[in-house]
Amino acid sequence: LPTTKQPDATTTMVCGYCSTGCGLNIHLKDDEAVNLTPTVDYPVNTGMACPKGWEALSVLDSPDRGTMPLLRDDHGRRVPVKWDIAMQAFCNRFKDIQAKHGNHSVAFLSTGQMPTEEMAYLGSLTKFGMGMLHGDGNTRQCMATAVVAYKQAFGFDAPPYTYQDFEESDVIVLVGSNLCIAHPIMWQRVCRNPHNPEIIVLDPRTTETAVAATQHLALNPKSDLELLYGIAHILISEGWIDEPFIRQHVNEFDEFAQHVEKYTPEYVERVSGISKESLHYAARTIHKGKRVSLWWTMGVNQSYQGVRTAQAIINLALITGNIGRPGTGANSITGQCNAMGSRLFSNTTNLLGGHDFKNPEHRQKVASTLHIDENLIPTEDSWAYDRIIEGILRDEIKGLWVICTNPAHSWINQNTYKEIVERLDFLVVQDMYHSTETAQRADLYLPAAGWGEKEGTFINSERRIGLLKKVAKAPGKALADFSIFRLAAHYWGCEDLFEKWQEPEDVFQSLKELSRHQPCDITGVENYQMLDQRGGIQWPYPEGCKESDTQRRLFADGRFFHPDGKAQLLFEDSRDMPEPPNERYPYLLMTGRGTASQWHTQTRTSKSAVLRGLYPQEIYVELNPQDARREGIRPNSVVQVDSQRGSVTAKAFVTPTISPGQLFIPMHYEATNQLTLAHFDPYSRQPSYKNCAVRISPSHHV
Ligand code: SF4
Repeated sequence: LPTTKQPDATTTMVCGYCSTGCGLNIHLKDDEAVNLTPTVDYPVNTGMACPKGWEALSVLDSPDRGTMPLLRDDHGRRVPVKWDIAMQAFCNRFKDIQAKHGNHSVAFLSTGQMPTEEMAYLGSLTKFGMGMLHGDGNTRQCMATAVVAYKQAFGFDAPPYTYQDFEESDVIVLVGSNLCIAHPIMWQRVCRNPHNPEIIVLDPRTTETAVAATQHLALNPKSDLELLYGIAHILISEGWIDEPFIRQHVNEFDEFAQHVEKYTPEYVERVSGISKESLHYAARTIHKGKRVSLWWTMGVNQSYQGVRTAQAIINLALITGNIGRPGTGANSITGQCNAMGSRLFSNTTNLLGGHDFKNPEHRQKVASTLHIDENLIPTEDSWAYDRIIEGILRDEIKGLWVICTNPAHSWINQNTYKEIVERLDFLVVQDMYHSTETAQRADLYLPAAGWGEKEGTFINSERRIGLLKKVAKAPGKALADFSIFRLAAHYWGCEDLFEKWQEPEDVFQSLKELSRHQPCDITGVENYQMLDQRGGIQWPYPEGCKESDTQRRLFADGRFFHPDGKAQLLFEDSRDMPEPPNERYPYLLMTGRGTASQWHTQTRTSKSAVLRGLYPQEIYVELNPQDARREGIRPNSVVQVDSQRGSVTAKAFVTPTISPGQLFIPMHYEATNQLTLAHFDPYSRQPSYKNCAVRISPSHHV
């Protein structure tokens, strides 16, 4: 660095990309960030970071950062306007829509990437102040399945683990998780495990993680539910279960044992393609393990039967007694940096603090804690994301506020999203960048500050609340989302509702109170300073909590959150794949993470020259050499992939890491979701991104 940029101070904060929640040391000159290094004594990453973390600052500086609100004029041009004009337009248009079509005709779509305090402010403003009922997060696309699976099985949405469990297991089972690139620092913790663990990977693709596994079960796509039931079948029939634990702590075991009877190794071999010997060996490995941890992520969550599949994983942990002890657990790894904050405090499908909109006692508690009129709190849950989109198609929703997310790229049914924009009377998009596919279509664009330009907290996958700090100035007139929400409250005329929320930490203090006596009780966290000094704190942390981080895994006492203290086994038969390959579309398309250097719709990662150098710029499709030969496709040639919904031109990446009959396209490229099928898990309404029927052929557009 030149002398003028030599740092004169350092501060620590959490990374703003993924749910790992690494600590980063931000080096400052005159209170402004000049560079960063991973924090050596942060308990999550102990000095490690992935490329996205290293490049976190560089993406703040980009010519397409929003610096002024942009309002579309009568000629369709986006014109820069001052904040007061923007907020008047925002409130007038939304109020007009509500007057004409009813209060619930405006809705919001938000994110797992804002600090918890901003989520809570938005959820409170829209539901208690603006009279909205419907608002959901893009977290619906990544972890809604895990939420429902945990609530039904444990009685509360409670991932039970700490990251130290990666290092303490002697058997690690990864289902639908390419940990190596999707959560590289968690993978490093697996690599540090001193117990030479068995690593069993269930994944149709030979991913980077599968290559490093000791057992790779390359099952047929979406046969995971049958395979997991098949493992349970063997464990039960061999007597490899923890009967005393089941008797004391688990409900519905006999029914479950009866249910999995038909999932014989022979049947599962036929369905999954995994030999009965391999299945038996995997079950035996789990039986032999003293500390078995089972982990899952998007391969499970993004499925038309994700909830029951996640619960099949939970069931394995419960019947073998692998929960509540070091190195064990049924552990959902989440995606975005604050998906866990959204799960508890976004006020979308949960009332603030993991409460229930439909429960009068919960509404009363929230009303008295926040000193608001109880009648302001809706008595119904919001529609899920897909229902909001449908509501727009049916002209029930006419105004939409999209915050910090890019559904024009990421929504499973991209063609429908384009249609809904045409049907809306007013679309407001609030984002760091004015150039996203979604922001470009907005009637009103509001420029937002990004990570590093504002304060708040994130909650990571292991339930650790970490601190976010302001270490850079947002460009031009861009404002923190928190300030935009406060402005909206002011212009809407409900400022007094939120009088005591002047700063993000004021919201944090309210959320603490709301968490009292809940499983996520954080009343013992005094303030931001305490979070800063402690390197984040995992929930629960009630007043007087003395446990260290390494002890703060859940269910150590065998008590779950259902009223009888027991966990519930949940199960049902597998459903048919909604769109299996057929004569016309003979391949099965899966989508997912491409590299460790790409993030979601690449809104941020594409801004870093370093990151751009680490992944292919052009969309590509992975296909097996046999299929390439059959279709007359050469490596690196241009191909066309078609589904019933659209066509995509991509480069052929011919690789044996994908099985014949299957294709894979990373989700980071805009065209990918022109192909995917809008189908959802019935319990969580999470989209099933990883299965649709397609065909592939050499392209004539070279
Ligand atoms: Fe940031 Fe996740 Fe990378 Fe850690 S692993 S540096 S939290 S993106």
